[in-house]
Amino acid sequence: VNGQKIWTSRALQSDLMLLLARTNDPDEEHPRWWGLSTFLVDLRAAPVEQLRIQPIATMLNHNTTEVFIDGLEIPAANRIGEEGMGFRYILDGMNAERILIAAECIGDARWFVDRAVGHGKKRVVFGRPIGQNQGVAFPIAWAHARIEAADLMRWRASELYERGEKCAAEANMAKLLAADASWEAANVCLDTHGGFGFAREFDVERKFRETRLYQVAPVTTNMILAFIAQNVLGLPRSY
Ligand SMILES: Cc1cc2nc3c(=O)[nH]c(=O)nc-3n(C[C@H](O)[C@H](O)[C@H](O)COP(=O)(O)OP(=O)(O)OC[C@H]3O[C@@H](n4cnc5c(N)ncnc54)[C@H](O)[C@@H]3O)c2cc1C
Repeated sequence: VNGQKIWTSRALQSDLMLLLARTNDPDEEHPRWWGLSTFLVDLRAAPVEQLRIQPIATMLNHNTTEVFIDGLEIPAANRIGEEGMGFRYILDGMNAERILIAAECIGDARWFVDRAVGHGKKRVVFGRPIGQNQGVAFPIAWAHARIEAADLMRWRASELYERGEKCAAEANMAKLLAADASWEAANVCLDTHGGFGFAREFDVERKFRETRLYQVAPVTTNMILAFIAQNVLGLPRSY
């Protein structure tokens, strides 16, 4: 359409989309989060003039898209759950997502440490493996310790979630600590590889770019810090 690439339903990775839309004006009777509802949208049936999904080229190997909705009508029968309660349903999934992302970060971080250790043992400069130098070994050891600490918070959050208990603080902290641990491990791995860290054949540069995402998505580090400051520590709300 107009020279722009539009994804059709066949190119999409999903046939259905969960949409959060405002259905009720805010009022005095309900809390601030009330008034949004969730709907299931059939992407295959939606006309392209009413629902366009456009890829965004990013620094990652990731199917990132922007969605344009214009005049799309969705039958009330497609509503999921109670009217006005949609934001609550979305929030409910967010703790699980934070825990899942924390686990992904920990996986990334362990990959970086494994690669750094492997290269530290194999690469010989001036007659000794570079990993024998404490300047190389200690940052890798720090990265390992921080991953293990983040992993404990990840399991704590998972256990609370599994028991159906409150876990927002732990899920947010797990994501924060794990995202930091993976980014630190990425830097350590790149440093350990020296110039080879930038060479595509070592895979480090690709994963380095990918793991940077977790400082920003699905929630930024600042937003987690704001949550902890306000909801855990009781500091005044900043926004
Ligand atoms: C590859 C990729 C995939 C994504 N996938 C999804 C997806 O599947 N689903 C989805 O819903 N979203 C997705 N996102 C969006 C992502 O969740 C958002 O980009 C992210 O939450 C940050 O929001 P924003 O981009 O609007 O940044 P903004 O809100 O514009 O923030 C920009 C910067 O300002 C800071 N900032 C903003 N407000 C404050 C404040 N009050 N106090 C302190 N700091 C503040 C932020 O921390 C950030 O550093 C994806 C993004 C990317 C890059």
